[in-house]
Amino acid sequence: MMTDLQIFTQGVQYIKGVGPRRQLVLQKQGISTLFDLLWHIPRQYEDMSQLKTPEEMAESEVVFCEAEVLQVTKNRIPRGMVIVRAKILCGGSLMTAVWFNQPYVATQLKENETLFIKGRVKRAGPGGEIHVLHYEKPGLTEQGLLPVYPLAEGLNQKSMRQSLQTLLETYLPRYPEILPENLRQREGLMTIQAAFQNIHFPADAAHQRQAHRRLALEEYLLFRFIMMQNPHTEKLPQQFPPLDEAEEVRLMQIRDRLPFRLTAAQDRVIKEIRQDMLAPYAMNRLLEGDVGSGKTLVAALTMLISKARGTQSAFMAPTEILALQHFHSLQKLYGGLPVVMACLTSSTPPKERTAILEALAAGELDILVGTHALIQEDLNYRQLGLVIIDEQHRFGVRQRARLSEKGLHPDVLVMTATPIPRTLALSLNGQLAISVLDELPPGRLPVKTKYLPRKDRRQAYAFAARRILAGEQAYVICPLVEESEKQSLLDVHTLYEELQTIYGGTFSIGMVHGRMSGEEKQQGLEDFAAGKIKMLIATTVVEVGVDVPTATVMIVEHAERFGLSQLHQLRGRVGRGKQQSYCILLGEPAGDTAYQRLLAMQQTNDGFALANLDLKLRGPGDFWGFRQHGLNDLKVLDLSQDQDIVACGEKILPEVAAGLNPGLREAYLALKFPQLEEIASN
Ligand code: ADP
Ligand code: MG
Repeated sequence: MMTDLQIFTQGVQYIKGVGPRRQLVLQKQGISTLFDLLWHIPRQYEDMSQLKTPEEMAESEVVFCEAEVLQVTKNRIPRGMVIVRAKILCGGSLMTAVWFNQPYVATQLKENETLFIKGRVKRAGPGGEIHVLHYEKPGLTEQGLLPVYPLAEGLNQKSMRQSLQTLLETYLPRYPEILPENLRQREGLMTIQAAFQNIHFPADAAHQRQAHRRLALEEYLLFRFIMMQNPHTEKLPQQFPPLDEAEEVRLMQIRDRLPFRLTAAQDRVIKEIRQDMLAPYAMNRLLEGDVGSGKTLVAALTMLISKARGTQSAFMAPTEILALQHFHSLQKLYGGLPVVMACLTSSTPPKERTAILEALAAGELDILVGTHALIQEDLNYRQLGLVIIDEQHRFGVRQRARLSEKGLHPDVLVMTATPIPRTLALSLNGQLAISVLDELPPGRLPVKTKYLPRKDRRQAYAFAARRILAGEQAYVICPLVEESEKQSLLDVHTLYEELQTIYGGTFSIGMVHGRMSGEEKQQGLEDFAAGKIKMLIATTVVEVGVDVPTATVMIVEHAERFGLSQLHQLRGRVGRGKQQSYCILLGEPAGDTAYQRLLAMQQTNDGFALANLDLKLRGPGDFWGFRQHGLNDLKVLDLSQDQDIVACGEKILPEVAAGLNPGLREAYLALKFPQLEEIASN
């Protein structure tokens, strides 16, 4: 016999009225089961209850009205536009409804038919004109709030609403309720059935809000159940030799040789990490620290703890440039210590590579620095105890699983400058421990950021030139390496030639981009770091981690093309010394969100605030590789807003979990978090 939830695993073709064609189109939109359709949440609602008469309409206001169609005409006007006009009778007066470039409307409208129209008033009052944004034929309209769904091509609102209505009528009573009644009453929550009913066809706005709250909570609870029992969040046992504390003290003496003192935050975070490392379970810790907060030093000291217990460390950087930079700065830092290190990237010569692999297997190497190849390839560590991932946005469940397959359960520390908003952190509870470097080294001046329209870009370069003549250095970031046919974007080579023509006689200009070999890139950066090059034109190969404290100006061409965390990272390349630094964002933001991003950059240097905004603008899917945590499957819960729901969920979680049928978990995992299931079965 089918359990209640299993009913919802049936395909959408089980809904009356959904034939093979509609099934196919729905599938394109990611809706294959009854469950998917039920969770296909309206993106907004049309409020058909506030109908206006012509006398009540104001010029250029958006209004709803009820109208009777009298006569329809279709005209072609110059420049290929088609205009459909309908004479309508609205509140006893004649008006004209107008559709631009929707010739098919003419065939859909019938004389004497009643319509609900949403439109912008162009000429107010009787005899006036309305430019139609949206219209409805009577049917479900009695409800007041009408759902508007995200639609793939080939679907329309009407058919979507019909399918949902049939689904609700036929199957909704069978949907399992996971909240006990007394709890629901105590917390003032709807039944799950009422919630689905009211999210799709709300009785009124208040019911819709209640429904949203209940479904967001449902999602949160399901998400947490899955997380609590995710096989990858189990504690993985370790058997490493005990820490040699005397050795640790000896190694840690390098702290006294630094030209500065650790910040209190660095001190605290190292203690947190150390405690995790001493526990007989694999550490799974995220180190959040804004750009320039000194994460590399924390990594360096952490690797010494690993050394003091006789285990090897792997330090992974996202790019070759960064791997080399880390390698060199670690060498400098560890100078005089009995620490043996090597750097392995894809351009390491075969001979050297072989030697490194041998030393690694023999346990002669303490630390291996490199790119992601460090754990993917067939490397044999003698005893890998610690993996540090710097600025890695895509390390997660999968990679960890790969290590486990090799029988390795090293401590894992992931370092990122993109902080997890509090609500997200809470929902990842148990998956990740989090340490925060919430303090910058003293004496740093906040970077001054300015957005300039592209047409004023000459000003930006003139400014950079002045700073360079005053002895400082500048980065210029450009999104493309080569001219592209499709987009009229500036490319590195064109920009280089342009700037070379203007400033070539005054100071030296260099270039690094992704098409160069590792060596060429490295050379370019080294020349810049050494001051031989004053202005460095680069693609985002310098996005993360590059540390040249004498650089004070960052110009970003086509800044609208970059995401917030990327812009914040780029800006983080300057402001690393004691001098005032500047970030100039050149752009011609096409849309509203692009513009908001640039303004936000101008308003704050706070990575936390920016991450929150990013989450709001783009959703968690793009965020820090969270795809693999299932957050992409959240349809209702908005982690940037629904903080009270997260709080409520945490409060009732134990009680709900205790009453939940364990078999349901598997069913929900497959239905609600298919991405997680895919990972779990990989
Ligand atoms: P990020 O967190 O962005 O990776 P880095 O580790 O590259 O930051 O550090 C940024 C700069 O700050 C480096 O030049 C580093 O030497 C310096 N730094 C690190 N810790 C301190 C400290 N406690 N006091 C002063 N400068 C520091
Ligand atoms: Mg760094």
